[in-house]
Amino acid sequence: MDLMSKNTEIQLAHVRSILDTITDPEIPALTINEMGILRGVEIEADTVVVTITPTYSGCPAIDQITDDITAALAKHDYLSARVALVLSPAWTTDWMSDEAKEKLRQYGIAPPCKTSLLDDSQEDPDVTVIVACPNCCSFNTQLVSHFGSTACKSFWQCTDCLEPFDYFKPI
Ligand SMILES: [Zn+2]
Repeated sequence: MDLMSKNTEIQLAHVRSILDTITDPEIPALTINEMGILRGVEIEADTVVVTITPTYSGCPAIDQITDDITAALAKHDYLSARVALVLSPAWTTDWMSDEAKEKLRQYGIAPPCKTSLLDDSQEDPDVTVIVACPNCCSFNTQLVSHFGSTACKSFWQCTDCLEPFDYFKPI
């Protein structure tokens, strides 16, 4: 390995460690890496190119994430950074690790369920999915509103412990 590529590798590792500190603005308990939003990092000449895939194309959070990335890199003297949006393949909740889903539950948001829990014969996925309460794990929960704190989530309440909670919609 020549010195040039070795330096690039050290830089890449450094850039990755910086990116690991950036959290999802909508779910501060999880980093963009844990969310599966961060898709790749490359160094082209002197420019750091960060590839991300937004969780939902309509999510306003993506501007915030882009700003956070360039600001964090600039703070570490990576002044030339570019964020590339990749919309295809579309982000899926499957890209979240099991550990990330568990963190989501501890944060008080019911993690997305496996699609097998969805009944395809129904048109509205919100009312057919079985959502476990993140507080007491009861399945006696009901949909309160299709939109929770953001459009990415719906708002639910547990019938047993009465805990209101957000459910991260699977896509
Ligand atoms: Zn409950």
